[in-house]
Amino acid sequence: MTLLLALACSPESHDLRVEPHAFGSTDFEQTEPPIPPTTHTTPGTTGGTTTPGTTTTPVPVGDEGPLGFVGSPCESDADCDYDGGVCLRDDQGFPRGTCSAPCDRTCDDAAGYPTTFCTDVDELPADVASLGAGGCLSRCNFQIHPVTGCRDDYGCVETSRPDGSGSTYTCVPNEPSSLPACLQDLAGRGVPFEPTIIDDAHPSEDPSLTCHVEDPVKMFSGYLGVDITYYDGATGGSINGACSLAHAVADTIEDVADDGVVRLRHLGTYNCRLIAGSSSLSRHGYGDAIDIYGFDFDDGTAWTLVDDWEHDTTTFSTEAGEWLYDTSHGWHDQRLWNVILTPNYNSAHDNHFHVDLTPGSDFIGLLGPYFGPSPWDGE
Ligand SMILES: [Zn+2]
Repeated sequence: MTLLLALACSPESHDLRVEPHAFGSTDFEQTEPPIPPTTHTTPGTTGGTTTPGTTTTPVPVGDEGPLGFVGSPCESDADCDYDGGVCLRDDQGFPRGTCSAPCDRTCDDAAGYPTTFCTDVDELPADVASLGAGGCLSRCNFQIHPVTGCRDDYGCVETSRPDGSGSTYTCVPNEPSSLPACLQDLAGRGVPFEPTIIDDAHPSEDPSLTCHVEDPVKMFSGYLGVDITYYDGATGGSINGACSLAHAVADTIEDVADDGVVRLRHLGTYNCRLIAGSSSLSRHGYGDAIDIYGFDFDDGTAWTLVDDWEHDTTTFSTEAGEWLYDTSHGWHDQRLWNVILTPNYNSAHDNHFHVDLTPGSDFIGLLGPYFGPSPWDGE
């Protein structure tokens, strides 16, 4: 038991006490431009951002999605009024047309539209002379197209860049969708997300280790009406991580939405780094951990770990303290997460719940100083 306990404690058994700003500076989320709160439910951007044509407000048309940018329906190039825009027409094998652009490796993105991807022209169904090595396509987006991720007559299929430097799931004409089961299940439960790319990486402290994220996704705000934002409440709007993380966050949202939670504030998800003071990769390096900073409720109340957690007691003086304690224990009881570290675990967690999906673990951090019933259920 001692050995098991030591192993289970190892993820985050270090001094992580840092200010949110410092934490954010190395956070994967913060590598992307902040999304204003008024547009936080729209897909984020991963590359350059452009404003297609003269309109900034995409207009959804039935199942066809927003008009005027990469992936939108079109009859001619004039319908694709942005830098490099070309229409891959219906008579070229793209049902009802698809706006695209020539590309070598990356494509611009635009707020309100699915993230784009530069697909090798050899993976397109027709020889399209207007494209060079590659053509910009939409990634599958289960926020705009909840059922299939794509417009009708387009399938969600993995495609590669012209230089082979990456691949992800994009909307390709007249192909049956082919998604990993985890992503298909995520779509099936109505979670808004896009498949995304998180390349394997190596922590600077030890390049011999590899951060690998299984079935990476960008999960958007909006599941059961709950926003997901960075701790400040003004930036974020989506999280990047493993598909398994998105399922667990969705489980967590289902749990707290019943209590009136309308916003989940966090301090980060994927981040290729070691556990500070150790030689082990943090679960953040696998993309299956999230640091939860606090919760906003539909009556305007906002409870945070740093302000409202009541340390080392089960005799609570506030409703907030009791709710935070009971909620985190409920997650453990329901096995929503394999590791749950609370502010009772150590001072490094004073401002967040660290929750992750460490394989084989079943742990809720109540140690240091230990308080409360045994976190072990006989194992
Ligand atoms: Zn963490």
